[in-house]
Amino acid sequence: MSVIIVGAGPTGLMLAGDLAEAGADVTLLEKRAEESNLTRAFALHARTLELFDMRGIADEIVDQGFEVSGVRVDLGGGETALDLDHPESRFKYVLTVAQARTETLLQRRAEDLGVRIRRGAEVVGLEQDGDGVTLSVRTRDGAHTERASYVVGADGAHSVVRRLLGVGFSGRSYDTHIILADVRPDQELPPAINPYMGADGVALLPPYGDGWFRAIVWDRSRQDVPLDHPVSLDELNDSLRRITGGRISVAEMSWSTRFLSERRQADRYRVGRVLLAGDAAHVHSPMGAMGMNTGIQDAANLAWKLAAQERGRAPTWLLDTYEGERHPVGRQALRVTDFVQRMAVAPAPVRAIRAHVVPRLLRVRRFTAAMRRLISGLGVRYDRPREVEDSPSVGRRVDDLPLVRAGEPTRLYELVDPTRFTLLDTTAQGSAAEAAQPWEDRVLSVRVRGDLPEGADVLLVRPDGHVAWSGEHPAPGQVRQVLAEWTGAP
Ligand SMILES: Cc1cc2nc3c(=O)[nH]c(=O)nc-3n(C[C@H](O)[C@H](O)[C@H](O)COP(=O)(O)OP(=O)(O)OC[C@H]3O[C@@H](n4cnc5c(N)ncnc54)[C@H](O)[C@@H]3O)c2cc1C
Repeated sequence: MSVIIVGAGPTGLMLAGDLAEAGADVTLLEKRAEESNLTRAFALHARTLELFDMRGIADEIVDQGFEVSGVRVDLGGGETALDLDHPESRFKYVLTVAQARTETLLQRRAEDLGVRIRRGAEVVGLEQDGDGVTLSVRTRDGAHTERASYVVGADGAHSVVRRLLGVGFSGRSYDTHIILADVRPDQELPPAINPYMGADGVALLPPYGDGWFRAIVWDRSRQDVPLDHPVSLDELNDSLRRITGGRISVAEMSWSTRFLSERRQADRYRVGRVLLAGDAAHVHSPMGAMGMNTGIQDAANLAWKLAAQERGRAPTWLLDTYEGERHPVGRQALRVTDFVQRMAVAPAPVRAIRAHVVPRLLRVRRFTAAMRRLISGLGVRYDRPREVEDSPSVGRRVDDLPLVRAGEPTRLYELVDPTRFTLLDTTAQGSAAEAAQPWEDRVLSVRVRGDLPEGADVLLVRPDGHVAWSGEHPAPGQVRQVLAEWTGAP
């Protein structure tokens, strides 16, 4: 079983690790010869951390970042507090950490699991037939072809795989470009996201942790400056002075660029044996910090389905649920980030309304809870595939339930296996766990004590931590039917 992933960004690295853990033969092709230490994303949201937790790598990245549980922002009518607490998650905050650190963590995991990472290998051609996909690859030593059963394009916003498939990338560019710079401010800043809003735009200053900060600036008054025009320290200080009302200036700048963000989504996520994930499938404003998080979550949704397909254990409909489930999530990320971007980088008439309306909205708990759940990924719920039996919580993210296994306290995310389904049986007889035995190569069945959602006493969890099915005193035949629906005959 072989899969080639094009692009060793966070999406490709997460997917590669998951596929390799599921037993696939995985090659990652990356056109850059060197590892990147360029930081774009600086925030990990709760759902991504939960997925890392299920893979045993969350604590390591949490130790390297800052836990931000609230933001204070001045929208024009005085400071408003934005609570980022997630009561339903072990990760009750947004973690600020440089993208390069997240990539290093995912790369090490992928390599430990046996992924071959080939740097300096650029994909320039693609052809597929009934048995597999052939890629034309250019390296320093010349051109060659590589073949695999499936290919995933995780090759970023300008995806060559997407172009070679002829898949449209519908949407548009924003008017105001972003100035990115690594800076050392003159002032002491807390280890937080540090947002500032002014008449001319928005500035964010998340920390690196060593006295340096990333400046991310949308300055409407500079939007006509050409993208290839270098950013000077004076220009940056002038933008910061206007936007922050003179509160922030920077003494040193080590690197800077201009970047025009876009709002686009691939029309399809799958064409035959080739799939798209991460920025190759969707790009949006960095406002809301959802890009990398959505890509990593795409990978967690796709990996187990692709692994099952490759092994011939997937029901015929399973792989198509990747697009069915993740395309709407991508569309929602475009909408949410667009809303936040429009509110933040707003023209004068909108700013006047914003100063009055947004602080009020932010005092409505249900509104802020809904926004937090949207942005953090904790609110994602997938529709039930019509081929599988219905049950109350199907498709929902499963909480990290406290459980007792063999007399020892544990929690659900310690049990969940990202390569297999997990069947939790809390009945005294354990008949569901017993019924699942013939599927043990693809279903981990465990007898536990604890409260399951919606009064169920048997819960089937997908490898990506969503509910596949739940039941109350189900007959063994019903359990067997559900397992066969999701994972095929034993
Ligand atoms: C200023 C800024 C701030 C951001 N902040 C956040 C944030 O806080 N949180 C968040 O979630 N997201 C954020 N994002 C978005 C985030 O950086 C991206 O969504 C993320 O990097 C996408 O990951 P990816 O793996 O899908 O693609 P990429 O990271 O773009 O990786 C694609 C890889 O594919 C390689 N490649 C391309 N073409 C080929 C080819 N033909 N052959 C082989 N390899 C190829 C590239 O070299 C690259 O390494 C931010 C973006 C910006 C610009």
